[in-house]
Amino acid sequence: MHKLILKPRREKSLKRLHPWVFSGAVASVQGKPGPGDTVEIRSGSGEFLGMAAYSPRSQIVARVWDWRARAIDRAFFYESIERAVAQRRALLDADATDAMRLVHGESDGLPGVIADRYGDTVVLQLTSAGAERWRETIADALLEVTGAARVWERSDAEVRELEGLTAMTGPLRGAREPTRIAVTEHALMFQIDLEHGHKTGFYLDQRENRRRVRQLAAGRDVLDGFCYTGGFALNALAGGARSVLAIDSSAQALALARDNAERDRLPGVDWIEGDVFQLLRKRRDEGRRFDLIVLDPPKFAPTAAHAAKAARAYKDINLLAFKLLRPGGMLFTFSCSGGVSADLFQKIVAGAALDANAQVQLIERLGPGADHPVALNFPEGDYLKGLICRVAS
Ligand code: SAH
Repeated sequence: MHKLILKPRREKSLKRLHPWVFSGAVASVQGKPGPGDTVEIRSGSGEFLGMAAYSPRSQIVARVWDWRARAIDRAFFYESIERAVAQRRALLDADATDAMRLVHGESDGLPGVIADRYGDTVVLQLTSAGAERWRETIADALLEVTGAARVWERSDAEVRELEGLTAMTGPLRGAREPTRIAVTEHALMFQIDLEHGHKTGFYLDQRENRRRVRQLAAGRDVLDGFCYTGGFALNALAGGARSVLAIDSSAQALALARDNAERDRLPGVDWIEGDVFQLLRKRRDEGRRFDLIVLDPPKFAPTAAHAAKAARAYKDINLLAFKLLRPGGMLFTFSCSGGVSADLFQKIVAGAALDANAQVQLIERLGPGADHPVALNFPEGDYLKGLICRVAS
């Protein structure tokens, strides 16, 4: 068995069940493991710490598969995937949606493995050398455990480059067609573009928050910034919004959004292609006002190194949103930046409210649904933070 021996006292984070080994912590490598091969991690004094996947090109040189000394084989992946899928069956209402995350990487004990179910298609995204090494086994297990008809790969996330991996996309099991499929979420239909959709096709982590918007939208003039294929906008209309203005910079996303609106028989959204930063300013200068604003931007800070720049961007759009809200108006504001903590995000939003001269209450804190668990000792998994704020009436 290949072994990674750590430097003295560098076993601390592993003992706290954090699954990453950084290259600087490694004293020596025994054997000749290749990318993705299984290695045993041992402390400087020889204590066993875990079974991990080796990734020599990455700063994260190993990711733990299991904290016990066991074989990492076909059985391991079948068991892990079965456990993850069973958890979703127990925690999610199958009538509410046929689109959900089945495997959430590190937090499900499978570093670098993301699997999302869209109807009878499972979309797989592999982002680590270890996951890459087991692609075929993982695809077989997903097919068998879920009973899905096909597995489609969307391993084109940028982080793969850090692991020395190139993009891989397309059908892994089952038919190539159709590349566009419809899913139902809380009785609304959304189409997923398997080839060109963002991430694996849909922002599944916002499902419960989209529903929350629906519950609070009645009679309101709504603005959905960063609307993608219309998730929040269509929920707002379904909830009885008086008007909905939705903005995104992607023409492709908006084309799908318009099509979704038509199929859901929810006409009346004003879809605008453009930059949210500019368009919010423009609406402010025109004196337009709203009663409910959703801001769900892309991640401005993938890591803590980008936090300061991201903070300015979050502050900018949130400040504009507070200025655009009528008294009693609500802001649903989100960050999916791993590099911005929940605490920092709340401080940024509070600063934006102050600068907008608005008295604002925090009504609710929001996070992802139960299909996006966060392993408590893996804070990197805790990326999505949301706040519902209310401007004083
Ligand atoms: N709320 C959506 C997901 C939003 S993802 C949902 O629930 O499905 C972020 C979106 O922001 C993407 O669709 C991307 O195209 C868009 N985007 C990124 N930068 C933008 C900008 N400066 N102005 C407008 N849209 C932007």
